[in-house]
Amino acid sequence: MYDDPTSCCSLSHRIRRFAEYERVKETEMKRLSSINSSLWVSWIQQYLLRHNSFWDVREDGKGSWIWRKQLKLRPLAAQFIRFEVKDGHTAFFWFDDWLQMGKLLAVAGEVGTYYLGVSRSARECVPRDEYGCDTVLWKHSEDNYKTHFSSSKTWDQVRERRDKVGWSKSVWFPQEVARYSFIVWLAVKNRLSTGDRMRAWGIQQGCVMCEERDETRDHVFFACPYAFTVWDKLAGRLCDGNIDPDCSITLQFVTSNTLRIMDKILIKMVFQTCIYICGRREMTDAIRKVSAVWINQLSSVQGRSQVC
Ligand SMILES: [Zn+2]
Repeated sequence: MYDDPTSCCSLSHRIRRFAEYERVKETEMKRLSSINSSLWVSWIQQYLLRHNSFWDVREDGKGSWIWRKQLKLRPLAAQFIRFEVKDGHTAFFWFDDWLQMGKLLAVAGEVGTYYLGVSRSARECVPRDEYGCDTVLWKHSEDNYKTHFSSSKTWDQVRERRDKVGWSKSVWFPQEVARYSFIVWLAVKNRLSTGDRMRAWGIQQGCVMCEERDETRDHVFFACPYAFTVWDKLAGRLCDGNIDPDCSITLQFVTSNTLRIMDKILIKMVFQTCIYICGRREMTDAIRKVSAVWINQLSSVQGRSQVC
C-alpha cells in the first residue's frame, strides 16, 4: 500500500530517502535503461540525449526533422506520461513524473538541484520495495493510467471536438474507396482547385466541359451540363428521378434518403465516383496550368539574370 504521494510529508520523506540513497549509490555505475534494446533508441541516447533526460534536452537544431518535432511536443506529451518507480534506474529524478505531481524541477525551481545537491541527470529516484524495472504509465483518461500506450485514447484526449457534420456518412462509410472519399471530402470542404479558387493564383480557369467562365465547385459537380448528364444517367433510376443540379441538395439527398439499404450504398458509391472523376480532372488541369505559370516566371527570371 503506497502512502499519499502528493502530501508534503510524503514528498520530504522521499527526498530525504533519495538523498541517502544517492550517497550510497554514488560510486556505482548507472545501469542502462531497459529501452536500450532498440538500435534507434540507443543511437538517440548516445548522440542526442547523451544520457540526459528527454525532457531536459535543448532544441539546438540537431537530429532529424521528426526528432525536432518531438522536442517541440514535449509540453503536450508530458501530460500523458507517469512513472511507477520500482528499482529506480530509469526515471529521472527531476524530470519524470514519478510523484504524480509533475516535474520536480518545476516544483523546486532551477535552484533546487543546487540546494538538494542532486544533479539534473540523476536517474535513481527513491526506490520502492518492489522488484523489477520502473514502469512507464500512459494516460488513457482522467486519473486512469495504464502500462500500455493507446493512440486512440491519446487522440481522444488531445483532439478538438466539434459537432458532427451531417454529410459525414456520404464521405466516410464502410464500402468507400479511400481515394474517392478523400477527393469527395476536399470537394465538400471546397478545397479543390476550381476556377474561383485558382483566381487567387492569377490563373483564369473556366469549365473545360461547357466553357462556363465562372467555374465554381457547385458548377463542376452537377450544375455543369456534362456532369449533370453523367449523374443523371448513372443515378437517375436509383434516385427514382429525384435528380437535382444543386450540389448541396444532392449531397443532402445522398446523405439522408428513404432508399433501401443496398441502394443507399450504391448511390453513395455512384456519387463519389462522379465527384472523383470530375475532381481529378480539375486537379490535373490546375496542376498543368500552375506548372506553366511557374515555368514562365522562371524563364523570365533567367532572362533578366542573363541581361544583367
Ligand atoms: Zn461546365
